[in-house]
Amino acid sequence: MRYEEPVYRPPSEANSLLIQATLGCPHNQCTFCGMYKGKKFRIRPVSEIKEDICLAKESYGDSVPEADPSFGGHVETMFFPDGNTIIMKTDQLEEIFKFAYQTFPNLKRITLYGSAKIIKFKTLEELIRLRKAGLKRIHMGLESGNDRILKKIQKGADAQTMTEIGQRVKKAGMELSEYVLIGIGGEKLWREHAVDTADVLNAINPDFIRLRTWVPVPVAPLYKDYEAGDFKLLSPHAALREIKLLLEKLEVSSLFLSDHISNFVNISGHLPRDKKSMLKKIDEGLQLDESSFRTEIIERL
Ligand code: SF4
Repeated sequence: MRYEEPVYRPPSEANSLLIQATLGCPHNQCTFCGMYKGKKFRIRPVSEIKEDICLAKESYGDSVPEADPSFGGHVETMFFPDGNTIIMKTDQLEEIFKFAYQTFPNLKRITLYGSAKIIKFKTLEELIRLRKAGLKRIHMGLESGNDRILKKIQKGADAQTMTEIGQRVKKAGMELSEYVLIGIGGEKLWREHAVDTADVLNAINPDFIRLRTWVPVPVAPLYKDYEAGDFKLLSPHAALREIKLLLEKLEVSSLFLSDHISNFVNISGHLPRDKKSMLKKIDEGLQLDESSFRTEIIERL
């Protein structure tokens, strides 16, 4: 297989076949993100992408190496890594997705990363076409629902746009995974971050809400502020209080997940069903001494 490093995928795509259709991120300005800094954005030709799909078929047949046996060993899910593959022309994406389903007969789901800034250029009709071509889920970084924070971190979309685009993806019939960045408001804006993020999520009602806790990564522009002491990380207890407020305000029917090592505590469950037990787990965490949580700075996420 031909991969250009670094290659990132969400933990939930661990069993997916990864095909790089785009390299880097066309936005690449988020101050907290170090994923593709130094990697020039480019879209690969459709012919090359199809070649990769064929190469995967030749290499693996119809199965993914080291796949979880519960997946039956078949290529059932395919993920297009690197930021914002959704930026490709709708015709091209349709062609690639159709080819992927023809090549891998057991394929059930195609997913990719897409940010609101980029998806807003796709009409509802285009998104419906993509869903019909097999794009079943989009992983979208909401990060925060607070406009002050969104502007500061240069996400490229305000809360209104985040809401409208999230709703558009849902209306197109796709599953939506929204990522929330715990701690990105720092000590100053944690309340606003939690409350406004809940407001946006309530308006969208995504299928998944996935928590990430911001950790300083040297290549991320925000690292300089952190080093200079201008951006204060939340303590484990403060991060838990932020999650607690977020959870209290949420009125969604979503799967809420802390499926990442950056988080201090794994707070996960179905909303609204498990809200009470998740809040209880947070309260238990708040009773623990802060020294019992992870302390190391993870520099290579
Ligand atoms: S967070 Fe996503 S949209 Fe922002 S720079 Fe990183 S990859 Fe690009």
